Amino acid sequence: MTNNPIPVLADTPEAQRYNGIKRWLGIADFVIGLIFLVVLLATGWSGWLRDLAYRVGLNNYSLSVFVYLLLLLVISKVLGIGLDFYGFRLERRYKLSNQRFRSWIWDEFKGFLVGLVLGGIVVELLYFTIRQWPQNWWVLAWILFMVLFIVMAQLAPVVLFPIFYKFEPLDDEELRRRLVVLSERAGTRVRGVYRWKLSEKSKKANAALTGLGATRRIILADTLLDNYSPDEIEAVLAHELGHHVHRHILKSMLVQAAITFVGFWAANWTLHYAVDRHMFEQLSDFANLPLLALVSVVLSFLLMPALNAYSRYNERQADRYAFESISSVEPFISSMNKLATQNLAERTPSKWVEWLFYSHPSISRRLAAAEQWGKTQGGHPAV
Ligand SMILES: [Zn+2]
Repeated sequence: MTNNPIPVLADTPEAQRYNGIKRWLGIADFVIGLIFLVVLLATGWSGWLRDLAYRVGLNNYSLSVFVYLLLLLVISKVLGIGLDFYGFRLERRYKLSNQRFRSWIWDEFKGFLVGLVLGGIVVELLYFTIRQWPQNWWVLAWILFMVLFIVMAQLAPVVLFPIFYKFEPLDDEELRRRLVVLSERAGTRVRGVYRWKLSEKSKKANAALTGLGATRRIILADTLLDNYSPDEIEAVLAHELGHHVHRHILKSMLVQAAITFVGFWAANWTLHYAVDRHMFEQLSDFANLPLLALVSVVLSFLLMPALNAYSRYNERQADRYAFESISSVEPFISSMNKLATQNLAERTPSKWVEWLFYSHPSISRRLAAAEQWGKTQGGHPAV
């Protein structure tokens, strides 16, 4: 954090409106989900859905668990599709996307299937451990969940992301050379840089470090590659490399591991409490799935400010790494300004909005930090 006063960069009313609506969409989505879970439990509809699942699932436990999940996901999709559609229209209204309705629906369908497959694996594992080891299921479930999490982190860039976007190795020799120089200076190596064809779906620009081990890579949106100068792209690359050098993915996974451990403990405690109160006959009654989901939703909500603060800390570290590796902060500053305009980002959100929702420091803070760095380095021409 810098002690400097943050330069006041006025946000356009358009940016304020767009971000305000997006925030309310997120809150509405969260509240609808929460109400859905509470209603399922309070009315006993969850038990009714379980009985239906048993009939469809031919009284086979594992199959019925899957059918129950499918029913739950279909209902919540129906409840949420209106907001999803509004979100799609919003991007188009603010000229941030030119995605066609047909392409959007296709993405929604694919997203639903991905959720069903991943959710299916998780709930099957969950109720398998509950049935086999009712005493210590939560520790075992936590271990299995973490294994799945690590496998998914590794597979995501090669299996998950390509379901929605096309990627190809970056063919720009000059940029590749710059990355090699940056990496060597850091004494590290990133295996690949990929061109991410984001332009098919959005006009926004983005970049990220993803994957684990052999799939570790930096992805750069074509909307960025085609519109930014080589120096600006290098600044973005340096930031992503900063995440790699500071091992942010590994650290975030360790934080996740600790949180899910507490989460599974809390889930076990809650399930036992509910069974003791005769809300369910036994732990393995999968009509209690909404209760498990509720524990996870409430925990994530409570931890959101802390996790966002942690993420902002990592982002500041990656920014600082970028300042140190590039010869001047000017391209960093201009790339930030371009990103803010292109993505219709709020440069100066209100303090509590940033504290609660922002995984990155606001653009104005990042610019202030860059300018501060530029000033302190001013007397010493960079090599
Ligand atoms: Zn970052």
